[in-house]
Amino acid sequence: MKFVTYQKDGLEQVGLVEDKLGCIIDIHKSQLKVLGKQTFPQTMIAAVELGDSFLKDLEELLTHDTSKFILYPFKEVELLAPIPRPRKNIFCVGKNYAAHAIEMGSAADIPEYPIIFSKTPTTVIGTEQTVLHHRHITECLDYEGELAVIIGKTAKGIKKEEAFDYVFGYTIINDITARDKQKRHQQYLLGKSLDTSCPMGPYITHKSVVGNPHQLDIETKVNGEIRQKANTEQFIFDIPTIISVISEGTTLEAGDIIATGTPAGVGDGFNPPRYLSPGDVIEITVVGVGSLKNFVQKDV
Ligand code: MG
Repeated sequence: MKFVTYQKDGLEQVGLVEDKLGCIIDIHKSQLKVLGKQTFPQTMIAAVELGDSFLKDLEELLTHDTSKFILYPFKEVELLAPIPRPRKNIFCVGKNYAAHAIEMGSAADIPEYPIIFSKTPTTVIGTEQTVLHHRHITECLDYEGELAVIIGKTAKGIKKEEAFDYVFGYTIINDITARDKQKRHQQYLLGKSLDTSCPMGPYITHKSVVGNPHQLDIETKVNGEIRQKANTEQFIFDIPTIISVISEGTTLEAGDIIATGTPAGVGDGFNPPRYLSPGDVIEITVVGVGSLKNFVQKDV
């Protein structure tokens, strides 16, 4: 199951992707039409919080024939980020692929403990939306393709062996970074939090259809050229370790987002560096999770 947040006729709501037909199912209107009730929440965070009862109601709806549903072709709606406004900062893991740690410094930069930083909620945009260039603020805007984990249940002190019970699903994040600000201010927050610097989406893929999240091919293209190509099996810290470390004495809530780190091949790793330019198209694909595409603002 792939969950989207979309806007149609001024209304923002959660929907389900119907892959075969290339449409979105209006789950609210379809449930009313087919079952004569309305139990689905409007927002993705509320849906994730409901968890199993949300999934159970969806399964009940999906036992009926698709031809009875209210469907919208993708071109008739605006896809937003699956969680357009996270209720807190997005957690991010730094240097979680050895080859990326080395390209940003040397083998001495491979971390012994997970590096955790964050991006503010105002950074989030959806697929096909425009990344501001911020040319007056940074000369070093860079991309970072990443698999992101959506937390499904509120808890703290999550044990590694139970960590996947607390995962709802997965999405993709482009951890856009102003390298000059990142380096100048020591802490990453400002360099990671320029407006529009967290493209997310295109949807949340439920964990039940992703398979092993540590066996996913991940690729980033800029203007069609492959810049990053790796597999999540190369993580230094796996998802259970990341979840257990973050939740040690810190509450993780349903709908929280954790970006798992970027592979080698960021613009800053090239000599000379290859930062983003106005008009660039960035496309990140995680096989089985989706493809996230964004454009860098042209007219700056
Ligand atoms: Mg990153």
